[in-house]
Amino acid sequence: MTDRTEDAGARGLPERKDLLASNLAQVEERISAACAAVGRARDEVTLIVVTKTYPASDVRLLAELGVRHVAENRDQDAAPKAAQCADLPLTWHFVGQLQTNKVRSVVGYAQQVQSVDRLKLVHSLSAAAVRAEREVGCLLQVALDAGSGERGERGGVAPDGVDELAAAVAGAPGLRLDGLMTVAPLAGEYAGRPREAFERLREMSSRLRTAHPAATMVSAGMSADLDEAVAAGATHVRVGTAVLGVRPRLG
Ligand SMILES: *Cc1c(COP(=O)(O)O)cnc(C)c1O
Repeated sequence: MTDRTEDAGARGLPERKDLLASNLAQVEERISAACAAVGRARDEVTLIVVTKTYPASDVRLLAELGVRHVAENRDQDAAPKAAQCADLPLTWHFVGQLQTNKVRSVVGYAQQVQSVDRLKLVHSLSAAAVRAEREVGCLLQVALDAGSGERGERGGVAPDGVDELAAAVAGAPGLRLDGLMTVAPLAGEYAGRPREAFERLREMSSRLRTAHPAATMVSAGMSADLDEAVAAGATHVRVGTAVLGVRPRLG
């Protein structure tokens, strides 16, 4: 990361593209090294670039650099950006806490929602998917910092709620159960222990696949802890800062 504090639009596009290319190469290096360290093949891990707070022009540059998966966490920002990038060969993932009144919009551009964490959201996503005649991939976001039955601070279903939610997604028209997602907890028993948190998610994924064999995705790991996630068996890492730079505002 050569110049992480740089303002997104402050310099020319060619320079921005060079910076993104070099950051992508460093992330690629980390993923490859993490795979090699535990004997995994590089193609077992897919990079999703989290483009939240960055402009559509960056998404376009990323697509030119070979990125095929991008993620956003706020519909207000994501909807216009996705519309501006509709010509690009990208898969859009939604990774933020999702209110049911935003679901119709999200289903219009996101092929996958990684933050499914409650039954009400499942029902709303299903209705929107059917209405739009689209199939929406769903990951259940697991809150490893939640007490029994509770949702975590940043959303997510408690581990003991996963089976019920999985069954609901699997039975919902228009939805496809793709797997599990988590964010390394800042509090609770896994605080400061991302590797253990991701291993727990991986175990939950193995269990889930006995009932839902196609739910193979394990989405874990961000800029700070993608190496631990790959070591623990993640199939998808969601990386923002390490590719695009430190975000200008919280997102
Ligand atoms: C922002 C975000 C990321 C990426 O975080 P970085 O630390 O910038 O890599 C990953 N997952 C989710 C759910 C996010 O909101």
